[in-house]
Amino acid sequence: MRQRLAVGNWKMHGSLPENQALLDKVAAASGRLSRAIAAVCVPFPYLAQARSALAGSKAAWGGQNVSQYPKGAFTGEVSAGMLREFGCRYVIVGHSERRQLFGEDDAAVALKAEAVLAQGMVPIVCVGETLAERERGVTEEVVGRQLGAVADRLGTEGLKASVLAYEPVWAIGTGKTATPDQAQAVHAYLRDALALRDRSVAAAMPILYGGSVKAANAVELFGRQDVDGGLIGGASLVAEEFISICQAADG
Ligand code: PEP
Repeated sequence: MRQRLAVGNWKMHGSLPENQALLDKVAAASGRLSRAIAAVCVPFPYLAQARSALAGSKAAWGGQNVSQYPKGAFTGEVSAGMLREFGCRYVIVGHSERRQLFGEDDAAVALKAEAVLAQGMVPIVCVGETLAERERGVTEEVVGRQLGAVADRLGTEGLKASVLAYEPVWAIGTGKTATPDQAQAVHAYLRDALALRDRSVAAAMPILYGGSVKAANAVELFGRQDVDGGLIGGASLVAEEFISICQAADG
């Protein structure tokens, strides 16, 4: 059975007191999940706080980005080794905000995923099309290209230790969610594309959906055959919402 996950992406939100209340609730709720993992990917300065609040619970924590380089004169960057030192299990790579606002291309995303794996953590590799691309009918071509760049770099062994997230750009932070049918269709396409490389990797790969997931739509989205949970932005900042979404991922 595939691992089910609900991963919060806090983006650039939070403050020490707000985080503490949220993390304490996530820690308590994680113990009530039977098969899904609850995880939060927090801004770098809050990793120590996440570690101390979640250590000993069943919840995991991680980063939202990472340098492709192991160390050196890269002002403002954070290496995978540094994230590992703070107990991160997951690192998001290739989020559309990184691709669109900070110019990360497929090659950089692949190198970042490789850097995460080299430190024994799990990259959550994001792929997704813009609204213009969906309207042009090139969704599969776009997500196939994004996945292919990472898969070529990581190979079968690397893919086995990775998580994939389908996040249509037009659904992120917009309140517009892909319908369960739209999400399932792309997830199935991604799984088929993986199967052309390795059938067992395809069968075992958790593929998360992200894009305006809320407690109100999570059960239906996560009920689809190839949707193994979610990557959650805005709703992960509200404890009750995020915990309901974690329970939806638990099934
Ligand atoms: C995200 O940032 O990965 C995301 C899916 O955001 P939201 O849930 O707010 O759409």
